[in-house]
Amino acid sequence: MSHSIPRCLVCELDSTEVPLIELRYRDQSYWICPQHFPILIHQPQLLVGKLPGAERLEPHEHD
Ligand SMILES: [Zn+2]
Repeated sequence: MSHSIPRCLVCELDSTEVPLIELRYRDQSYWICPQHFPILIHQPQLLVGKLPGAERLEPHEHD
């Protein structure tokens, strides 16, 4: 299983190439690199199909 090696949800690089941040969502672990972490905050819709349930996430809105 590819689960044995954490990889960024978006670019699929592993921790030998980029730092990875662990996400816990729906009791599962996911990983994302700092370059793509802002997508999770600002454009979570781009993670639909990569992160199960991403379609439920609301983008952060600036006031
Ligand atoms: Zn990445």
